[in-house]
Amino acid sequence: MTLTGTTRLAGVIGHPITHTVSPAMHNAAYAHLGLDCAYIPLHVLPEALEAAIKGLRAFEFLGANVTLPYKEAVIPYLDELDMSAQKAQAVNTIVNQDGWLIGYNTDGAGFVYSVQNEAHFSLKKKCVLILGAGGAAKGIAHRLLQEGIYALTLLNRSHERAEHLAKALSGSATLIKVATHHDPLAELLAQADLVINTTPLGMTPDLDASPLSAYEGLSNATLCCDIIYKPAETLFLKKAKEKGASILGGAGMLAGQGMLAFELMTGKSIPFDIMRAQL
Ligand code: NAP
Repeated sequence: MTLTGTTRLAGVIGHPITHTVSPAMHNAAYAHLGLDCAYIPLHVLPEALEAAIKGLRAFEFLGANVTLPYKEAVIPYLDELDMSAQKAQAVNTIVNQDGWLIGYNTDGAGFVYSVQNEAHFSLKKKCVLILGAGGAAKGIAHRLLQEGIYALTLLNRSHERAEHLAKALSGSATLIKVATHHDPLAELLAQADLVINTTPLGMTPDLDASPLSAYEGLSNATLCCDIIYKPAETLFLKKAKEKGASILGGAGMLAGQGMLAFELMTGKSIPFDIMRAQL
């Protein structure tokens, strides 16, 4: 990559940021299309967040991605929120339109892209069980409702958080339920066509952790997805595979959200495989 006086910048804001793979994905995409752009990691301390967002305008950035722990914290510093970010109440992509900063959330759409295009799974009228009710679960759940799923069950460590999310999701045609850890797990798993782990349980280095205590109820009719991408195959996915379920790891969601963020920032399409190949 050659940086010139006309190179436009973009980056990813987070704390810490050393683990990020976004620069590799976006710079590969710029190279593929021959764009005079560069994408950099932007480590920002909490007390500098407002100044960092103002800096996107000052340095005429194309935009930025936002990762942990700032997906909610950046909202007050933006000029506008797209519907995807309003629903998720979280922003993972900021687009700079001539100094007007618009927040988007491409996490949910990235997940759906991966399920439809990597697992070739149709979401229409399906029963979905989401494990977890945090930021990622929120973005995914809102996007799943747009795909016409039949029923969505939330199972989370903190019952109140799941109830809160269920309330925010109400009003669509989808049946929304909150399960508790007293409900028979095998029944919850047997009723689901799609089970999604959105908790960090099983992520490197905690390879022996899993969001499930048992796997009865999973079968070859179930698709199990983990949004964790390190390791590529978590304990949850290994056990699900042993039960005959189809499995999908989190790298496709990461590439999908990156691809959609790239399109928003540059106005250009990029093949999914260019992003996916970097992971
Ligand atoms: P978050 O907002 O902190 O939510 C974490 C969720 O996991 C909460 O529901 C929390 O339950 C639950 N949880 C955490 N520790 C737990 C434990 N020890 N036992 C049971 N439940 C536990 O985090 P997030 O932003 O949603 O991210 C979650 C995961 O998704 C992370 O691993 C992240 O790397 C991954 N992610 C992947 C992508 C991708 O592109 N593939 C994108 C975004 C996130 P409580 O409500 O009870 O605390």
